[in-house]
Amino acid sequence: MVGVLASEPFIEGYGDIILRSCDGVDFHVCKCLVLVVSPIFRDMFSLPHSPAANRYEGTKPVIDMQEDASLLDALLRFCYPVEPPKITNQDDFERVAGAAQKFEMESLYGRIVDSFISNNIVYPSEQYILAHRFKLHQLAIDSAEKCLDYSLSELVGQAQTPDITYLSARNYNRLLQYHRAYCDACTRLVDGRDFSWCHAEKYAFVVCPCADNDETMGIDIEVGGERGLATVSWRKWWFNHVSRIEEAMEARGPSAVNHIDVSQAAADVIASGCQRCRDAAIVELHDFGRALRWEVKNKRRMARLEIDF
Ligand SMILES: [Zn+2]
Repeated sequence: MVGVLASEPFIEGYGDIILRSCDGVDFHVCKCLVLVVSPIFRDMFSLPHSPAANRYEGTKPVIDMQEDASLLDALLRFCYPVEPPKITNQDDFERVAGAAQKFEMESLYGRIVDSFISNNIVYPSEQYILAHRFKLHQLAIDSAEKCLDYSLSELVGQAQTPDITYLSARNYNRLLQYHRAYCDACTRLVDGRDFSWCHAEKYAFVVCPCADNDETMGIDIEVGGERGLATVSWRKWWFNHVSRIEEAMEARGPSAVNHIDVSQAAADVIASGCQRCRDAAIVELHDFGRALRWEVKNKRRMARLEIDF
């Protein structure tokens, strides 16, 4: 039986071999494009008794495929230098990825996974699993970094998919350690252990003399250009503001610094009755928030993930 013709670019004029789908559609394919990406196809055309050596349609070898036309069309489009097909659901993804694995088309895995991720809602932790399943180094790095946008409990919840079986305990643990190290580094910015990053000595909340009845604490700041532990007085309203940021980071992860609410702190500083603090507070609150966001971004850049496939 001569099958129905496939659509462009798999039409008669363009190919030098015919791949016939199991539902009878003929795909005229440029042999070199599939040979380059698939050792299985290379074997088909190099071994003396392979199917490709025996059957011809005119001058073109014909290979009967077990894949149906829709699957073959998608797979071949990933081989060709054309717009890759949009994979819009998990079943199609498994079919196309499974076929690519069957033909050992490793260089296509990245494009296939990318099409799936671009056209579906795929959490970063699921992307991290895909990266390890298909050995995609850059995706492992990028997806792990996106995981940092979530709290640890969100991350653990999102990773509870059937596909987690593709991830070794070792690589799952690496993601959690990477996430924890980043969260710890960010928490240290606000939990009172080290405020050297925020140049606290320039703020009214440190230098204003109204502090007499407020909180005092030892913090690590630069004093006269020399870094070291100094005891400074914090305005209570400021101390409470930082504590609220710390709580938000604990609940929602360090990305909570992108949504710092200054309204309570602004109300508190008015209630404190100090005109100097009041005049400086709004500008300083925003300045502190900006500096904190910059530091969190810096911790993100410095976070290091171990990967080996
Ligand atoms: Zn004051």
